[in-house]
Parts: sequence; C-alpha cells; structure tokens
Amino acid sequence: MEKNKKDATNLCHDGDAYFEHHGAIVPPIYQNSLFAFSSWDKIDEAFSAPQDHFIYSRVLNPTAQLVENKISQLCKGEKAKLYASGMGAIAAAILYCTNFGDHIITIKNIYAPANNFISQFLKNKCGISVTYVSGTSVEEVAESIIPKTTLIYLESPASITFELQDLAAIANLARQRNIKTVIDNTWASPLFQKPLELGIDIEVHSVSKYICGHSDVVAGVVVSSSKIMDDMLMAEHALLGAKIAPFEAWLILRSLRTLPMRMKRHEASTLKIAHYLADHPAVAGVNFPGLPTFPQYELGKKQMSGYGGLLSFELKTTEVGLIKSFVDSLSLFKLGVSWGGHESLVYAPLISYSKELSTEQFAAMRIAPGLIRLSIGLEDTEDLVQDLEEALDFKC
Ligand SMILES: *Cc1c(COP(=O)(O)O)cnc(C)c1O
Repeated sequence: MEKNKKDATNLCHDGDAYFEHHGAIVPPIYQNSLFAFSSWDKIDEAFSAPQDHFIYSRVLNPTAQLVENKISQLCKGEKAKLYASGMGAIAAAILYCTNFGDHIITIKNIYAPANNFISQFLKNKCGISVTYVSGTSVEEVAESIIPKTTLIYLESPASITFELQDLAAIANLARQRNIKTVIDNTWASPLFQKPLELGIDIEVHSVSKYICGHSDVVAGVVVSSSKIMDDMLMAEHALLGAKIAPFEAWLILRSLRTLPMRMKRHEASTLKIAHYLADHPAVAGVNFPGLPTFPQYELGKKQMSGYGGLLSFELKTTEVGLIKSFVDSLSLFKLGVSWGGHESLVYAPLISYSKELSTEQFAAMRIAPGLIRLSIGLEDTEDLVQDLEEALDFKC
C-alpha cells in the first residue's frame, strides 16, 4: 500500500499487491480451503507462527488478508480481521476482553443484539455483570468502575438516538485503570472517525453497513494492535470460526474503492434531510449529530471528521395508526432493518426492539413509540425529500 497517501488513494490502489498477482489490477479470489507445503519442515515452520503463514482459510486467506490490511491502514490500526458478521466481530472482541465473572460497563443505547450478548448471553453463561451508563458523562463512567471491570464497551454515536461518548477522555480513563476499551464505529465509518488514534484499544464494524455499502454482504471486522490481533487470531477468531468467505472479502475490497465517495454523498444528503425534517411542522424533533442544535454538536466536530447517513426523528403525533400510515406511504424509502447501503430505508425501533429486549432494557433506552429511523441512501436528495414531503403532508 502507498505510504503517506490519503485514505481515498489508498483505498483505490493496492501497492505491492499487484505484483503478487501478475499485475492483475483487480486481485484474484483465493477460493481455496487449504495451502500445500513443499516439505515437512516448511509446514512445521508455518505452525510455529500461524499468524504469518497461510495454512487453512479459517485462519488466514490471501484475499481476506489484502482487505484486512486495507481496513487496518484506513483505521490507523496495526492489524484487522474480517468476520462473518458484525456480531461475529463484536462477540469475539468482547470475549477477548473478559473472563468468567468480570464486569463490563456499556452504554444504554448500544446495538440491541450486542446488548443481548452482554446482558443475557454472557451473564447467564459466564457470570459476567454489566453496568449501563448514558455515555454522555465521563464521570458517570468513572464512578461505575469496580475492581472486576475489564471492559468499557462503547458505540459512538449510539444506536437510534445517536448520543456521543467522549472517546479520548474515556480511553484515557480506561488506560489508567488497565481496562480495555472497545468501540462499535459502524455509524461514522472508518473514514469519519478514527477511534484508535484517540486511544481506544479495539475498533469493530458491521461491514454489512457502509464499508460494504451495497446491501449484498453480511460481514464484520475487528481492528487493533498487532499484539491484540495476534492474541485473538488462534482463539476468539479461529476457535469460534466466524470467518469471512473469500468471495465476500473480494466484494468488500470492491466496495472500499468507493467508500469515500459514498460517505460524502450520504453525509451531504443526510444533512439536507435532517434540516428539512427539523423545520417541518409535523416533526417534534430530529436526532442527528450533524445538526447544530444537537446537544453534543461540538464534541461531534471534535472527534469526527464527517457524519454517517443514519438519523432518527419523532413525529408530533403519538397515534400509532398515523405513525404506521406515514411509514407505509413512503415509496422511495423501503421498510426494512439494516442500513448503510445504496438504498434509503425507513424503520421504527418499536417494531423489533420491544421484542428483542427486555421491558426494562427497552424502557431504559427511552425510545418514544413514534421514533422513526431513516437511512439515507445514494438516491437524488430532492427525490428523497419529496417522498418524505408527500408522506408527511398526507398523513400527519
Ligand atoms: C448492524 C449492526 C451491527 C451488527 O452487524 P451484523 O453485520 O448485522 O452482524 C452492529 N452494530 C451496529 C451499530 C449495527 O448497526
């Protein structure tokens, strides 16, 4: 990869990798499970340092590795590892940081399956306890630390309501106490937020969202120091086996070429739509860190260089019938889970969060029943605004 070049250049060019593949401008897909060795001594040597040798594609694969190196460079990490899903990456990172009976501090509004993994799965199977904080106060995080705390798990901006955490301050606090920090950085993408530079230990992404960006792959990635990634390789990665398929790694490589262009477009459209919604008489409020009225606007500007395209807003009406018909009368915004792809989506957390989470967890998130989430895609912005306008005027 090119040294001292900007992200967009590094994502387009593969540096030395061209010459490992006969100069092919698009690298091939290594669609093989195992690698053959010329002698007993050679395979013996490979087993002495499995992090540096291709032996079996559950552990290392050349196509996956090329993409992992690209993502690691983009995140300013030392090494990255792709996983079969964002949850595969999150589960591996959390397991790496915890042992039986440990304590985790996390944010109330983290992604619901990550919340369930911590508060139900790890609690029941590994006796791990958890304290939830709002995330907006570093003091509250500090006060929640107990001797058994080994992990502070962050998601900034957090799901659905997009509150931020002060990453540099929390990373600093955690380092002093020898506590690991993990962040789910999916919303801002590795382009707009570089948590490892702010002192966070491990960064995870749902690659299914912006990094892949075409709603055709489910994948995840963990990025960190070589020490942590090598420690995880033969344990949380290889033993749990949530590895990426070579073809999917190759699709992610193709997507990375356009990540900067796509993110800028998502950001520009979303800023316009956030302002449009904030000014609309049928809308009670908009949650989006890029609005100057957002309570943590300044912190956002300090620790992010841009904004993702996911926002939420609350309609003034609290009548479920009207809220439902607003959602149903949108036509460009497709109704569905996930986000970060080329297509605009609408979703209401009420639909699944109330089923995925316990009543207490859901109540703690303080999500209004009428909260609507929009993922702004790559369509023409004016067409998207018109779609919203028609649904708002007609129904609300
Ligand atoms: C979708 C999502 C995940 C989980 O990723 P998968 O690829 O679906 O497993 C994790 N975190 C956030 C913020 C997400 O939106």
